[in-house]
Amino acid sequence: MKILDVKVTVWEWNGIPPVSYSASIQGVERSTHMALLKIITDTGIEGHAFIGSALYSIGKDAQVIIDRYKPSLVGRNPLDRERIWQSLSKNALGWSPMRLIGGIDIALWDIAGKAAGVPIHQLMGGYRTSVPAYASSAVLPSPEAYAEEALKYKELGWTAYKIHPPSIPTTDIRICQVVRDAVGDDFRLMLDATWSYNYADAVSVGRVAEDLGFYWYEDPLPYDDINGYMKLKQALKIPIAATELPATGPTAYAPWILNQATDYLRGDPAIKGGLTSCLKTAHTAETFHMNYEVHHGGNSLTNVANMHLIMAIRNCEYFEVLLPDSAQKHGLVVDIEVDKYGMIHAPTGSGLGVEIDFDLIEHNKVMEL
Ligand SMILES: [Mg+2]
Repeated sequence: MKILDVKVTVWEWNGIPPVSYSASIQGVERSTHMALLKIITDTGIEGHAFIGSALYSIGKDAQVIIDRYKPSLVGRNPLDRERIWQSLSKNALGWSPMRLIGGIDIALWDIAGKAAGVPIHQLMGGYRTSVPAYASSAVLPSPEAYAEEALKYKELGWTAYKIHPPSIPTTDIRICQVVRDAVGDDFRLMLDATWSYNYADAVSVGRVAEDLGFYWYEDPLPYDDINGYMKLKQALKIPIAATELPATGPTAYAPWILNQATDYLRGDPAIKGGLTSCLKTAHTAETFHMNYEVHHGGNSLTNVANMHLIMAIRNCEYFEVLLPDSAQKHGLVVDIEVDKYGMIHAPTGSGLGVEIDFDLIEHNKVMEL
């Protein structure tokens, strides 16, 4: 099999509600430019990926795919995913290359699954076909708003809820208390502080989350403060979940593991350079008896890729559903749905195994490269 062509369709996603997930990003109503990547082979099989999210437009990266990556893909065997990933990711660092390599790698896995006639998760080594989901909040206006949302998902049958607070320590503590009071002790809660505290605040908020029985404490300190995390892990009993950022490949996790600076590793194919890269990290984590908790993928098709990854590994407990749906679900005919037991189920079709809404993309097309 050979790659004949690489195409990018950019489309506009309109009417995204004002939404924010951390203190550093302010929510305003917006539109964004998304990219549909198509890798076309000589067998007629096409691999697909979405690149971009509600908050991070594809922008000039659409042209970068054509200028920088297409020449090194055309003519290659798309089944040589490892060889392609090694050559593209060599010395690649940072957000832009990582998300482009991530999209290319997802599309190559899509081709491989379609060629083999199996879903990607089986190609990776199927481990399970369903997994629990957790609802992951945006920043909400009051502690009561978080409590109401957590209760809503609990009543829908979901089993866990993660708080993205406004990152003001006293307010964040109050939110944790109000939500725990509302949902009771038998419902899992997590706190994601999105890299916003200093060490003292990270300890005091973390102690409250620990006393309230929170399940994990995500990214309290700046993402490069490995020494701070080493100290924090000694000071707290609650599991720490760091490493969602920065955008890097698998080798960047080594010091976190060796210095015991976090309990769980995190990543997703859009930030960490694709499924190939995430699978390496997840398997590495497993050898250290660590979980690799997959971060949401930023768009609907990358979330499908996430789902395949999670179905293929043992050491990830949850699928993250970032709220609200209106800022996260776009571009598929039928998106991932959580059932009344709080579970998601693996697609059975080959490759990514979901139907892309090509009509919607065509209707909102901005350019084709
Ligand atoms: Mg997070």
